[in-house]
Amino acid sequence: MTGIISMAYLFAAVMFILSLGGLSSQESAKRGNIYGMTGMFVAIVATVLSAYVQAYGLLLIAMTIGAAIGLALAVRVEMTAMPQLVAMLHSFVGLAAVFIAWGGYLDPRVQHASHAAMVVHNVELYLGVFIGAITFTGSLVAFGKLQGVVSGKPLMLPFRHGLNALAIIATIILAILFVPVEHSEATTLYLLIMTGIALLVGIHLVAAIGGADMPVVVSMLNSYSGWAAAATGFMLSNDLLIVTGALVGSSGAILSYIMCRGMNRSFISVIMGGFGTDGGEVVSDEGAPQGEATVTNYEEVASELAQAKSVVITPGFGMAVAHAQQAVSELTSILRKNGVEVRFGIHPVAGRLPGHMNVLLAEANVPYDIVLEMDEVNPDLPNTDVVLVIGANDTVNPDAVEKPGSPISGMPVLEVWKAKRVVALKRSMASGYAGVANPLFVKQNTRMLFGDAKDSVQEVIKNLEFES
Ligand code: NDP
Repeated sequence: MTGIISMAYLFAAVMFILSLGGLSSQESAKRGNIYGMTGMFVAIVATVLSAYVQAYGLLLIAMTIGAAIGLALAVRVEMTAMPQLVAMLHSFVGLAAVFIAWGGYLDPRVQHASHAAMVVHNVELYLGVFIGAITFTGSLVAFGKLQGVVSGKPLMLPFRHGLNALAIIATIILAILFVPVEHSEATTLYLLIMTGIALLVGIHLVAAIGGADMPVVVSMLNSYSGWAAAATGFMLSNDLLIVTGALVGSSGAILSYIMCRGMNRSFISVIMGGFGTDGGEVVSDEGAPQGEATVTNYEEVASELAQAKSVVITPGFGMAVAHAQQAVSELTSILRKNGVEVRFGIHPVAGRLPGHMNVLLAEANVPYDIVLEMDEVNPDLPNTDVVLVIGANDTVNPDAVEKPGSPISGMPVLEVWKAKRVVALKRSMASGYAGVANPLFVKQNTRMLFGDAKDSVQEVIKNLEFES
């Protein structure tokens, strides 16, 4: 049986690797998900059938409750609320790591072949509790901030870096006391104190980070949850958990890096906290750009689109809020049928998660081959007749390249202002997630089409007329 289970674990690990590979492009993403689901199914069945599992009744109850909660959440969640859901799920991984490590500590059956084996086991469970506890409370605070239950403002305690440093020093001292000795009442106390410290560090670490950086934090916690799982895997001598934990840990770290680069933020400055807006609301008094915006209407936009040879659509968070993707897809297909070249320019951090826009457009059946990345579309923008900016703001802000002192200076952006005509679809002159004014909206070649993005696109479609 052990051999079959090892084979099943190996199969599941390969499935997870294939799954990550599949998720790297839109065409293969569905297949990637299927690999992932298959791997997880095989992993669960193999674990349940292994000799370690005996309490089938309890397990069945736990799995039924877990599956019901997971299903209910997944069916109901809006794409815009995905970061919160992910944060919540990470908190579960963290909590599981803490429970498993504590279970490993309290289990009277655990015997060690040598002193060295005991030390290794203690290191593994100490790390499992530490990373797991930080992930648990950190993810709960991230969830609260994203959901608006907790203020998005960074919590700036006096001496906060010192507090973190003290916590780390205490954790190291406790580790030195805990790791090399046999379990006793004293070691239980050390582990208990460290668990408390780690839970507080998790809260403090994430509370100090502003709402604007929260998605990066979620991705970072994703990485932590992976490392917590890997530590648990070592403790349980479970190869699958080690491999899966390492995959999650490293992919979360890479994703955090990509997000930081897309926002021109350094990873260290995100972790150190203190930056960010109040949950994505406008916090600066430079919310509205200086200058006069020129307002357009549906007829005018429809006529410009009908006469254009090339159109680029740059969607942003507002397209997700307005659920405009279906209408945008319809507009795209009408324009293409009438000989207009339509392409999409996707900024790496458009929306609230990397790939947010790609998922919405795929859902609305926009062909993959016209959905291009920022770097692919930027060189073509000067030759583009019309750019439709649909609910995007920070990702098309010229200040990022033109104004050195701007808070978003240096962030790579879609250089839409270089096109002959820019039409911005949004509801007001309000700023975007970073709370920074956007002079694009008052540029001479920009026209503002105010209103909900979905309604506006639908009205433009109604007004489209092509010369036959
Ligand atoms: P922004 O958040 O900058 O702006 C979205 C715009 O959409 C707003 O200005 C808003 O204007 C408009 N909008 C909102 N609702 C509607 C609606 N119903 N109809 C029409 N317009 C609407 O979006 P971007 O996608 O350009 O930028 C993403 C931001 O998120 C960046 O600052 C990025 O750094 C940040 N971020 C992204 C992450 C990612 O991984 N994708 C991670 C972390 C942060 P109005 O209110 O006037 O309608």
